[in-house]
Amino acid sequence: MIYFVGAGPGAPDLITVRGKSLLERCDMLIYAGSLVNPALLDFAKPGCRIFDSASMTLEEVIARFIEGEENRWLTVRLHTGDPSIYGAVREQMDQLQARDIQFKVVPGVSSFCAAAAALRAEYTLPGISQTLIISRVAGRTPSPPNEDLALLASHGASMAVFLSAALIGEVREKLLAGGLAPETPAAIVYKASWPDEKIVRGTVDSLPAMQKELGEDKTALILVGGFLKSSYQRSRLYHPDFEHGFRRRKPERETGD
Ligand code: SAH
Repeated sequence: MIYFVGAGPGAPDLITVRGKSLLERCDMLIYAGSLVNPALLDFAKPGCRIFDSASMTLEEVIARFIEGEENRWLTVRLHTGDPSIYGAVREQMDQLQARDIQFKVVPGVSSFCAAAAALRAEYTLPGISQTLIISRVAGRTPSPPNEDLALLASHGASMAVFLSAALIGEVREKLLAGGLAPETPAAIVYKASWPDEKIVRGTVDSLPAMQKELGEDKTALILVGGFLKSSYQRSRLYHPDFEHGFRRRKPERETGD
């Protein structure tokens, strides 16, 4: 059996309980070495066969999977964050399906969640935005034209831009071209949840300067939107005037509100 496991954003204790248990039991572990925190490899048992996929092709990874199946090993394929986001997992799963090899997926904490935690931010603030756009600028992997970052920015929604810190000038240009005001709040979170996590805050206009201050262009998320500002409306959900299936409206004297 093969398990695709989300490693979480970096901190070894941000993997799920299920993911950790599989890491402890697996006979073979193939991990995405460019992003996964190597501290997670310490969970593997002695004798576990460990491979870094950074130097492997898809074909080589599949060959390892097949070897594992022939030996009836428990194999873990460890991907950073959650496997469903820029994980290149679908092509692996399709190859396994075509060979009738059983596999399961264990989700993980994506880096956009860890970045929000680091910033103590909420992407979906009432009166600011109820939408989070997860995207990237087109690199070697092209984006469909209707997903151009400028077009996405025109919504004014909260944005988490992956894989783009090395192209920060282009990110800034696209966001401005999409109609965002230069003073729209922005943040760059480098290695969210790692011991060397770093945060820089600024505006869309100052993104390149923020990047320079950070001095890093890998493992960083660019976050943009009014959700990084201080003003917003309080939620309806927890408002004393609001009734829902789990709570009746509170009389004024009870809340003092
Ligand atoms: N599946 C992963 C994303 C893989 S793509 C997830 O769910 O997070 C790799 C990109 O993710 C990096 O270029 C960076 O933009 C982002 N990333 C991954 N880990 C990160 C972290 N700990 N802090 C900030 N950004 C991170």
